Amino acid sequence: MNASYGFEHVEPSRGLVAVHSQRWQPRRWHPRRWQLWCERKIAIAYVLTVDIAAVALAVGMIAAIPVHSGDLYRCALLVVGALVHREALRRIESLREQASTNGLRTDLTSLWIFAAALSVPLPLVFAVTAVVCLHSWYRGSSGRLYRTLFSGATMVLAPTAAVALLRLAQHSGYPLIPHGPLGLAVMIGAGTAYWLVNYALVVGAARLSDPLLPARQVLANPSDLVVVAASLGLGVALAVMLTVQPWMITVLIITVFALHRALLLPHFQQAARTDSKTGLLTAGFWREAAGRELERARRLADPLGVLMLDLDHFKSFNDRMGHLVGDQLLRAVADKLRSETRPYDLVGRFGGEEFVILLPGVGNAQVEHIADRIRECISRLRVLVDGPCDGPVTVDGISVSIGAAVRPDDGDDIHQLLLAADGALMAAKAAGRDRVRLATR
Ligand code: GH3
Ligand code: MG
Ligand code: MG
Repeated sequence: MNASYGFEHVEPSRGLVAVHSQRWQPRRWHPRRWQLWCERKIAIAYVLTVDIAAVALAVGMIAAIPVHSGDLYRCALLVVGALVHREALRRIESLREQASTNGLRTDLTSLWIFAAALSVPLPLVFAVTAVVCLHSWYRGSSGRLYRTLFSGATMVLAPTAAVALLRLAQHSGYPLIPHGPLGLAVMIGAGTAYWLVNYALVVGAARLSDPLLPARQVLANPSDLVVVAASLGLGVALAVMLTVQPWMITVLIITVFALHRALLLPHFQQAARTDSKTGLLTAGFWREAAGRELERARRLADPLGVLMLDLDHFKSFNDRMGHLVGDQLLRAVADKLRSETRPYDLVGRFGGEEFVILLPGVGNAQVEHIADRIRECISRLRVLVDGPCDGPVTVDGISVSIGAAVRPDDGDDIHQLLLAADGALMAAKAAGRDRVRLATR
């Protein structure tokens, strides 16, 4: 069951939600196909109530608040800025999503919505919200339409709360930034109100959808609070710039983009590449890198080997010793795999206790020998682990089954080679485990 409903500035990350396809899916917007209807009744009622409240509020505000032509100009700049910003950061955000380990992920979209709240009347803030939601739905980043609508609802309610507070201190005019130390306090209060409304709505949805969800997955990281504070602060700067020197917002966008890229891209690239439990390559990055190696092998007509490894009876080991000890064993096996392979071999963790190794330049003649050497090393491994009861214990007798495939005999793309190696692995399991099987024999 989906744990939460997806919205832009605090968005459920990978793992909580289905993987979203970038391709157009026929009629995926159709209400009858919404996965929402599979949720608990209370969660459905909650989502619909939030959506209806947001629509009612938006209609009321649009009817009550006049819009002038000068406001339209600022609104158009905000819309263009938000779209450019979101498009420019798509790659980084997708890496962040891959690297994210907790449930809610925060991005910088609040910057545009909060800036709109401070520089244009509420009906136009809702227009910016609508464009941001349409863009996010088009790009598939918040998945199904009901998720996008819920995101939109939070982006209607949160800025309305912030504006209500700010209007107590400044009754008219833009930018809506009250003066003096008291103004600063009100602004901090408005930013907090914005975040709280937004956050409470999404955490509420996640909790109602799955009450057993671990708190770690529902609550945002402390570092996400810094992202929220930064985006609200930038929103204030943007609002001032928009009213004084509108074209200068280009400078701000470039600055935000450059900082984001320079500071975050290397970090998230590394995090998306490395499996945090074992330090090996993640399955996604392994495939990417393996694809490049395969391309090279084809060009040079070189052979290439793929090994698929699966620890034997690991479930019963976990059942006896506990999952934490199981994790220590996984790490030790991963270290062994790395030390038994060459620096340019690609060693990845494919699933729980499944590993995959790409061996450039290795053909039929050597692959069995290499796989068997690795199997033997693992069988000789002695790992000191924290025992479940009294102190450290040494674990030995670990065994692994290995399936091997080689290019070009077993396939010429990574998918075929993995299928062939997987078939061989199953044959090794069926033949009694703790052995190597080749795909071709
Ligand atoms: P087989 O010999 O047929 O491979 O038996 P098995 O028990 O190893 O296979 P199975 O696929 O049934 O079980 C894999 C187990 O791996 C189940 C799960 O408890 C465990 N597992 C998966 N991921 C992790 C993890 O990250 N840490 C730990 N400790 N265990 C994990
Ligand atoms: Mg397995
Ligand atoms: Mg296994």
